[in-house]
Amino acid sequence: MSEERLRLEKICRYYGEITAVENVDLTVEQGEFLVLLGPSGSGKTTLLSMMGGFTEPSSGKIYIGEEDITDMLPASRPTVTVFQDYALFPHMSVQDNVGFGLTMRRVSRRERSRRVEESLDKVGLKGFGDRGIHQLSGGQRQRVALARAIAVEPAVLLLDEPLGALDLKIRHQMQEELVHLQKSLNTTFVHVTHDQDEAMSMADNIALINHGQIVDHGPPERIYLRPSNRFTATFMGDSNMIEASIKSQQEGRASVVSPYGIFDVPCKLPTGTSVHIVWRPEQIRTGSGHSSEGVINLGEAKVTEVVFQGTHRQCHVRCGTEMDQELILKVSPRNPILAGDLVQIYAFESDAVVLTD
Ligand code: ADP
Ligand code: MG
Repeated sequence: MSEERLRLEKICRYYGEITAVENVDLTVEQGEFLVLLGPSGSGKTTLLSMMGGFTEPSSGKIYIGEEDITDMLPASRPTVTVFQDYALFPHMSVQDNVGFGLTMRRVSRRERSRRVEESLDKVGLKGFGDRGIHQLSGGQRQRVALARAIAVEPAVLLLDEPLGALDLKIRHQMQEELVHLQKSLNTTFVHVTHDQDEAMSMADNIALINHGQIVDHGPPERIYLRPSNRFTATFMGDSNMIEASIKSQQEGRASVVSPYGIFDVPCKLPTGTSVHIVWRPEQIRTGSGHSSEGVINLGEAKVTEVVFQGTHRQCHVRCGTEMDQELILKVSPRNPILAGDLVQIYAFESDAVVLTD
């Protein structure tokens, strides 16, 4: 159903000298779960608020389907926003909170009570209608805010860090439930977070924002495994970044000079280009890779620190031909590696990401 696609075209928002959002082009397909991810102050709330109609863009256009909604009031748009602080009415019952948007839209009493019931049921709060807001836990309040949003059956649901105030266990549970709810409603969700794990576990697509610009956009696996730039590589979890320069180039394979010596990587960049080669901590292995096809030997490494983290051991090592480089490795919890050990390390060519920024 491309007719309800959300599309932002060259959206900018300035506050005096401050550029909050710059030149954002973004398309969210109908039924997609998009996560807008970025550090604090990167422009997430401002961008979401322009989608919802609470902030006016300095320039640019916003469309849903073919309709230009840039100048449309929030209540007239087919969008609903779930705010960071939930914005529930503390003196109203759960059902009056959930029915609020419907009252504003002049939905009949009967239809309203049907939709309130149905929405409470969908968020797992069946039978909570008569309760007061103050009688609810943080997680339950979050569900009420969600029920209120879905009750009006928006084309696009906008959520600003909706799980930020919840403790870790409830947050994980709500992440799963939100995805489940989104799939069952088939409503477009734009979900803001600064948490990369949350983004990866929930998104169909991630739009990564930094200094008001979308710097990377795609499915979580692509964003994590093949980041387009150094910001993505470092923001999406730990990464090892090796400075290198291209010494020669032949048919899509480049020979690079690096602090680990000379090795080949798949890459089409011309001779002389300065690059960063990225491997994730779990992509650098210990032991000898020898001369197996596609293996890059990174030489000897001295283990400086090992931290047991349940699912893996995180190790810091010093390495490189001058022993002046540092890498982070994630190895199996059963790997008996200890601080002080000397180990051989290697990685696979196919895991290497070559970046030019
Ligand atoms: P995020 O939600 O990613 O933390 P925001 O969208 O809230 O980021 O803010 C982006 C930038 O715009 C920040 O530098 C912030 O200080 C600025 N900003 C946001 N709202 C206003 C405002 N009403 N007046 C002035 N500056 C603002
Ligand atoms: Mg914000």
